[in-house]
Amino acid sequence: MILRPLNDRGVIARWQQYLPVTDATPFVSLNEGSTPLIHSPKLSRRLGQDCEVYIKFEGLNPTGSFKDRGMTVALSKAVEAGAQAVICASTGNTSAAAAAYAARASITCAVLLPAGKIAFGKLAQAFMYGAKVIAIEGNFDDALRLVREIGETESIAIVNSINPHRLEGQKTASFEIIEDLGDAPDFHVLPVGNAGNISAYWMGYEEFHRLGKSTKLPAMIGFQAAGSAPIYHRRVIEQPETVASAIRIGNPASWEFANRALHTSGGVIDIVTDEEILAAQLWLASNEGIFVEPASAASIAGLFKSLDPKRHCERRLPPIPPGSRIVCTVTGHGLKDPDVARDQCGGVIPAPAEKDAILRLLGA
Ligand SMILES: *Cc1c(COP(=O)(O)O)cnc(C)c1O
Repeated sequence: MILRPLNDRGVIARWQQYLPVTDATPFVSLNEGSTPLIHSPKLSRRLGQDCEVYIKFEGLNPTGSFKDRGMTVALSKAVEAGAQAVICASTGNTSAAAAAYAARASITCAVLLPAGKIAFGKLAQAFMYGAKVIAIEGNFDDALRLVREIGETESIAIVNSINPHRLEGQKTASFEIIEDLGDAPDFHVLPVGNAGNISAYWMGYEEFHRLGKSTKLPAMIGFQAAGSAPIYHRRVIEQPETVASAIRIGNPASWEFANRALHTSGGVIDIVTDEEILAAQLWLASNEGIFVEPASAASIAGLFKSLDPKRHCERRLPPIPPGSRIVCTVTGHGLKDPDVARDQCGGVIPAPAEKDAILRLLGA
């Protein structure tokens, strides 16, 4: 059965001529992509010099993160190839997206995890979408090794970051930005974990530039969490630590590819601390009304860091010329991580049940 959407929404339907799909490819889609590019007047003002900052809000994808862009292509190709199931090792947004698109395609989704380290909250989506969540006696590397072994021998498709179709789907975010702005931005800022997304954005920017759909290429600026910064430190981090779980990665799958993107684009990779990440998360929600998960706030934290004159001597960002256009990708929705949000919030304000008392509290 070939599934075709009723309209042109969804990453494959909108961008199929740039994707590895054929007439034989079913579209396994939840109308992902086409996320808003939101102008941020407050960030623009903070940057000054007629700079404009835009936020690509990827948390508004169907499962709440940009992983949906890649997963629609990965699942469509898996179904085309006759896979009966997909498998991944992930505790987070990858498993949520894999499970949702597998449900859509009516095939099995297996999520392999180390036993004993399973936080239910992070996996709530995978459970709800009907994935088989399997806890193995071993660590995360064992889970990944098993995923690879199973993917090589069985008709079960691997949908971890090593699946090249995922980057193909993810590159469409660059296409959308170029369409929305009429050209590529001057800088693109985003958080980096496995480094697939920064690589995919760069692929998209290069492709549209080659096709004459943009006149320039942005400098790619990536931010890792300070306790989880293998690319920045140029070595594998054995025990990566950060509150931003989606970028808690010690040995990125797309390391080489990301280095090429950083180098070719004239960009850099830098770090932000957990404190800076949480402050930026709260700032963005309370100043612009955009609630993102901690990993996503790394891009905003990075922008703030680059503006801080006290950090000038250690700052690694290339100078931002007047009139620059900057796009920050925020990768996942804030509701993904309610525990962190709860810790960020102040308590309730007690008051008597009297109108005047409440108005006094509001400063009215
Ligand atoms: C996966 C993910 C990242 C990291 O993306 P990479 O492609 O692994 O660099 C960042 N933020 C969120 C919310 C994610 O789900």
